[in-house]
Amino acid sequence: MKILKNVFELNKAVKNYKNIGFVPTMGGIHKGHESLINISQRKNKETIVSIFVNPTQFNQKKDFNNYPRNINKDIRILRKLKVSYLFLPDVNEIYKKKMKNFRLKKTDKILCAKFRKGHFEGVLNVMNRLLSIIKSRQVFMGEKDFQQYILIKRILGKKYKVDIIGCPTIRENNHVALSTRNKLLNKSAIKTASKIAKKLSKLKKLSLSQTNELINLSKYKNVFKKKFKIKIDYLEFRDEKKLKLNNFKSNFRIFIAYYINGVRLIDNF
Ligand code: AMP
Repeated sequence: MKILKNVFELNKAVKNYKNIGFVPTMGGIHKGHESLINISQRKNKETIVSIFVNPTQFNQKKDFNNYPRNINKDIRILRKLKVSYLFLPDVNEIYKKKMKNFRLKKTDKILCAKFRKGHFEGVLNVMNRLLSIIKSRQVFMGEKDFQQYILIKRILGKKYKVDIIGCPTIRENNHVALSTRNKLLNKSAIKTASKIAKKLSKLKKLSLSQTNELINLSKYKNVFKKKFKIKIDYLEFRDEKKLKLNNFKSNFRIFIAYYINGVRLIDNF
C-alpha cells in the first residue's frame, strides 16, 4: 500500500483513475469501512482510501478533539485488506486552495442538518475538495449515514459525474451499527444502544407488514427517552429518495439520532 500525504505525491503515484474505487473515511477503521473497501475492490482493480478527520464538519471543537484516532492501527488493517493507496493529507493540504462553500436549501435542513448546524456544509466542502483531487469514477459510501450519502450523491455526484454508490450498514451481533464513535461508549451505553437498535428494527418490520400510519413514532420517542434516559434529536419515518416525512408510498426508513453518555449516535432501519 502506498501512503500519499499530499496532492503532489498522489498525482505522481496515480496517473489514471480508470478502475480505481474511492472510499473516503475519517479513520478508526472498522468492519463498516472494511465492507465499503471490499465492495470497491470487487468492482475495481484498485482502491484508494482516504483518512481525514475534517474539522469543518464538527460543530463542536470538543467533539473534533475527542474523535477517536488510531492511524497506526488503521494502516495495519488497510495493508491487510490489500488497499492500493492511502491518502493521508493534513488540514492545510486540503484547505489551502480557495473553493466555493456550499449552502443547503431550506428543504434540506432536516434530520442531522437541522440539529447539527453547518455539519453538512462542512461535509460537502471536504468532499468537494477530495473529489477535485481524487478523480475516481466510483465512490463508496455507507447507508449508515444515509442523509450524507443522499446529499453527496445529489450535489457532488452530478458536479463530478461520479457514481456515488450506497453500501449497506454493517452491524455488530447486538444490532448496533458499527461506528468509530462507539469506542466512546461504556458497556451500559452499548447495551442501551443495542436495545434501541433491536426495537427499531422490529418496528421497521412491523411497519412493512401493516399500515404504517398506525406506528406512532413520537410515542416511541417518549418511551425511549423515559426508559433509557437519552436525549433524542429525531425519530422519524422518511422516504429514501427525497427524505420526505411519512411518505409511505415510496421505500422508507426509520431515522434516529440520539445522545447516550454524551455521544451522538445516528442510525436508520
Ligand atoms: P466515517 O469514517 O465515519 O466518516 O465513515 C466513512 C464511510 O464509512 C462513510 O461513507 C460511512 O457512511 C461509512 N460507514 C460508517 N459506518 C458504517 C457501517 N456501520 N456500515 C457501513 N458503512 C459505514
